[in-house]
Amino acid sequence: MAYIISDDCLSCGACEAECPVSAISEGDGKYVIDADTCVECGACAGVCPVSAPSAE
Ligand code: SF4
Ligand code: SF4
Repeated sequence: MAYIISDDCLSCGACEAECPVSAISEGDGKYVIDADTCVECGACAGVCPVSAPSAE
């Protein structure tokens, strides 16, 4: 399953640059992960200050 970003996201943008497959983009009020692109590496969760990305 792909990672998803919760509503806790602060839209800081830190995770976008860390994603090796560019699956993260700025959405409406928070950043979002494209489920078909995500390879579940966990890098986004590692850099997020509020632990918004998680594996579901
Ligand atoms: Fe990108 Fe990895 Fe996060 Fe998936 S888990 S969105 S591949 S950084
Ligand atoms: Fe949102 Fe966390 Fe990504 Fe920042 S690093 S944009 S708070 S998910």
